[in-house]
Amino acid sequence: MEVVSSGLPEFEYIHAESIEQASTFLLDESKDSRLFMGGTDLFVQMRAGARSPSLLVDVKHLPGMNDIQLKPDGSLHVGAAVNLNALARHEDVAEHYALLAEAAQSVGSYQLRSRATMGGNLCNASPAADTAPAALVLGARLIAQSGKDERSIPVEAFFLGPGETALQRGEILTRIEFPSPPKRSVGRYLKLGRNAAGDLAIVGVAVLGFPDDEAPSGYRFRLALSSVAPTPLLVPEVENILSGETMNDERIQAAARTAQQAAKPIDDVRATADYRSAMVEVYARRALKAVWAALRRDN
Ligand SMILES: Cc1cc2nc3c(=O)[nH]c(=O)nc-3n(C[C@H](O)[C@H](O)[C@H](O)COP(=O)(O)OP(=O)(O)OC[C@H]3O[C@@H](n4cnc5c(N)ncnc54)[C@H](O)[C@@H]3O)c2cc1C
Repeated sequence: MEVVSSGLPEFEYIHAESIEQASTFLLDESKDSRLFMGGTDLFVQMRAGARSPSLLVDVKHLPGMNDIQLKPDGSLHVGAAVNLNALARHEDVAEHYALLAEAAQSVGSYQLRSRATMGGNLCNASPAADTAPAALVLGARLIAQSGKDERSIPVEAFFLGPGETALQRGEILTRIEFPSPPKRSVGRYLKLGRNAAGDLAIVGVAVLGFPDDEAPSGYRFRLALSSVAPTPLLVPEVENILSGETMNDERIQAAARTAQQAAKPIDDVRATADYRSAMVEVYARRALKAVWAALRRDN
C-alpha cells in the first residue's frame, strides 16, 4: 500500500490482486473503503468533501474487467472497467447495440470518456447517468461479485435512489450483460444539456423500438429517462400505449405525455422542475418519432 496525495484528502490506494481480495478490503470495517474505477465521480466527490474514504480499491486491471464480448447467442458482455470511449467505438457495440454506443458517446468530453467507465457510471447511481436509460431499455443485467459468489441483478432493480444501488457491502460490479436485442430493433438516446461540449443531462430519453407481429400496432417500444426522477426511470406504460393500437402521431403524443407524467423532476443548478417536465414530453416525442421513422424505413 502507498499513500497518495494530490490536492485530495489523504487516502491509501490498493491495486487489488483479485476480485476476492478486493471484496475482503471492502468488507474490512476498520477502513472506510471505496471501489475506484476512473475516479471521475469519486475524486470530484472527495474534493468537495462529500466522501472521504481512507482506502481506494482499484480493480480496473483485473481479468475480464476491460473485455467487450459479443457472444454466439448475440448477447453482449461489457466489463465494468470498460471506458466509455472504448465502448462507443467498439465495432460490435456500434453495429448491434448502437443505442448503447450513442449513450456512451454522449457522456462528457473525449478526455473524460477515456477515464470514465460504464461500471462507474452505473454504480455512482446518479439520476443523470447517461448509460442507465440505454441499459434499462436494453434489459441489461448487472453481475456483482463478493468473494467467490456472483449474482445477477436486473438493471431495473439496481437503482435505489440518488447514489444508492442494490450492491451490498463488499460486492463489486464486474460486468454488464445485455441480452441479444430484438430483431430489427432501432434505438435512440436524446440528451438535453446546457451546452454541446459535454454536460450532465437536464433530460435524457432512450427509446428502443422493434417490429412485433403479436402487438396489435405491429411494434413494441421501450422508453427510459434520465435526470428527471431520483433514479433513472423505465416507463413501462409507454410500451402498452404504443403496442396496443395503430401507431400514429396521436399515439406517440399520448406516450410522450405518459413519460412526462411518470417523471418526478426537481429544481437544480441545471434546470427547473417545470422546464425539465416540459422537455421530457418534447424529447420523448422526438425520440419516439425518430425511432418509428427508422423502423418504417428499415422494415
Ligand atoms: C466534467 C465531468 C463531466 C461529466 N459528464 C457526464 C455526463 O455527461 N454524463 C454522465 O452520465 N456522467 C458524467 N460525469 C460523471 C462521470 O464521469 C461518470 O459517471 C463516469 O462514468 C463515472 O465512472 P468512473 O469510472 O470515473 O467512476 P468512479 O468515479 O471511479 O466511481 C463512481 C462510483 O461508483 C463506485 N464504483 C465504480 N465502479 C464500481 C464497481 N465496479 N463496483 C462497485 N462500485 C463501483 C465507486 O466506488 C464510486 O462510488 C461527468 C463527470 C465530470 C467530472
